[in-house]
Amino acid sequence: MKIDILTLFPEFFQALTNFSIIGRAIEKGLFSFNTVNIRDFSKDKHKRVDDYPFGGGPGMVMKPEPIYDALLSVKDNDSFVIYLSPQGILYNQEVAKKLASKKHLILICGHYEGIDNRIVENYVDMELSIGDYVLTGGEIPAMVVVDSIVRLIPGVLSSQEAYMDESHYNGLLEYPQYTRPREFNEFKVPEVLLSGNHEEIRKWRKYQSLKNTYIKRPDLLEKRKLSKEEIAMLEEIKKLI
Ligand code: SAM
Repeated sequence: MKIDILTLFPEFFQALTNFSIIGRAIEKGLFSFNTVNIRDFSKDKHKRVDDYPFGGGPGMVMKPEPIYDALLSVKDNDSFVIYLSPQGILYNQEVAKKLASKKHLILICGHYEGIDNRIVENYVDMELSIGDYVLTGGEIPAMVVVDSIVRLIPGVLSSQEAYMDESHYNGLLEYPQYTRPREFNEFKVPEVLLSGNHEEIRKWRKYQSLKNTYIKRPDLLEKRKLSKEEIAMLEEIKKLI
C-alpha cells in the first residue's frame, strides 16, 4: 500500500513516521508514505494557496489549482482520493478495513474554511470525518486514518490476532486486559486468566467482551449477528445487570 498526504504542513507527519509501529512498518517496507506540500504547487509569486470566499463571509478558502496540481503529481489509476472534512461520512473500523484493502490512498488535508468545492465535487472519491466537531486542519484526522489503517496491513502488528480481538474489529468491544503483578493494591487478576485452561479463558473473554459491549455500547450489538453461544451469554448478562 502507498499513502500520499496533500498538506500545507508536512512536518506534522514526522510525529507519525519517526516513531512507533508506523515508523517501523515504513522501515520494513510494508507500506510507503509520502507527504506533498500543496504550497509547492502555488504559481503565485508569494506562494499563496488561499483566497477570500466568493459571496463574502469570514475566513479564507484554499484555492483549487495548487491542490489539483499536487493531486496530479501523485495520482494514478489505482488512487483512491479522500478529503478529510467535518462534512464527510463518519470514520469507523468498518471504513478502516475497506480502506486498508486499497492500493493507493491520497488524503487531502484542508485548512482555514476548507477547500474550493470544485475539488471536492470533481476529484474526491470520499469525504471522511473523524467526528462531529471541527478541527483547524485535516492533518490530525489524516494521522488518525493512517494509524488505524496501517495496523491492519498484514505484517505490521506482530500477530494477526492482535487486531482481530480488538474493540470494533468484529463488532464487539474487547475484553478487559491485565498484566503483572497478579495482585495490585489488593486487587487481584481474575483467577481464570491464571488457570492455563485455554477453553475457559476463551469463554471468559467472550463473555466479558459481550458484557463490555452491552454496558458501554449496546448500539453495537444491534448491528452484529450473534452466534448461539453469544446469545446464551448475553441472556445471562442481561439477567445479572
Ligand atoms: N468550514 C468547514 C465546515 O464548516 O465544514 C470547516 C473547515 S475546518 C476549520 C478546516 C479543515 O479541517 C477542513 O478542511 C478539514 O480538512 C479539517 N477538518 C476539520 N474538522 C474535521 C473533522 N471532524 N474530520 C475531518 N477533517 C476535519
